[in-house]
Amino acid sequence: MTRVVAVANQKGGVAKTTTVHSLGVALAQSGRRVLLVDVDPQASLTWACGIDPDGLERSMHEVLLRRSKAADAIAATEVDGLSVLPSTIDLAGAEMHLLTKTGREYVLRKALERIVADYDVVLIDCPPSLGILTINGLTAAQEVLIPLQCEALGQRGVGQLMETIDDVRSYTNRDLEVRGVIATMFDGRTKLARQVVEEVRANHGLEVFDPPVPKSVKVAEAPGQGRSVLEHAPTSRGAVAYRELAQVIFAPTPKPSRKKKGRSAS
Ligand code: ADP
Ligand code: MG
Repeated sequence: MTRVVAVANQKGGVAKTTTVHSLGVALAQSGRRVLLVDVDPQASLTWACGIDPDGLERSMHEVLLRRSKAADAIAATEVDGLSVLPSTIDLAGAEMHLLTKTGREYVLRKALERIVADYDVVLIDCPPSLGILTINGLTAAQEVLIPLQCEALGQRGVGQLMETIDDVRSYTNRDLEVRGVIATMFDGRTKLARQVVEEVRANHGLEVFDPPVPKSVKVAEAPGQGRSVLEHAPTSRGAVAYRELAQVIFAPTPKPSRKKKGRSAS
């Protein structure tokens, strides 16, 4: 079954987009069919995939206004098996429009309904707010990943995000699961970074995935080239971390216990 995963944090610059893109490329490179969904009017994910939003006839804006089917707005990327439902700045206008509509929280979910089965994984890149676009992302998803920049103020917003997730569970998406936290731009040399990870575990009971994604110039350079760090610098520490995270978070099925005795399949 397809896994639909929203990547959310109302704070900007915590590596939501980088995480969606890098995990998506890692999964596509391991043979999965992946759709990246850009729900941010800033369209950073669209740019990072090498697509110029200004040249698009159809995008998330048209999809959310029901002027286009999602299938018709999807674009291929240079990575085999990786497609993107792109965004444009027009999406900021769609946000205003949505607010006046009945069923406004469900528009993305409905739009994706017909195409989700064409993919193994759908990753939704939410904007840096807890507004209606993020609510649409959380309502369309089965799981949430929370990227967290491990600095003093980084974890303050987690409580607020968890409240929003609880609201979404109460009103629009009862089964939404918080998969866990990805520590981003991690500087393991500082005590603070490790402290923040511990606090998030303790205060919110959230799993913090291993490994953290190290702060790395290679990761920062990649989007300017219209690529992810996995294509830009495949052996860099950032690329390695995202590849490992993709394996940890999207393991195909739980591995059977090794201790269990039984007939060998070979
Ligand atoms: P968000 O989507 O949460 O706003 P982005 O993914 O756009 O965040 O990341 C914000 C900035 O930080 C971007 O310029 C990105 O290239 C950079 N960045 C993300 N992850 C790393 C990292 N591990 N090391 C260095 N820079 C990073
Ligand atoms: Mg972003």
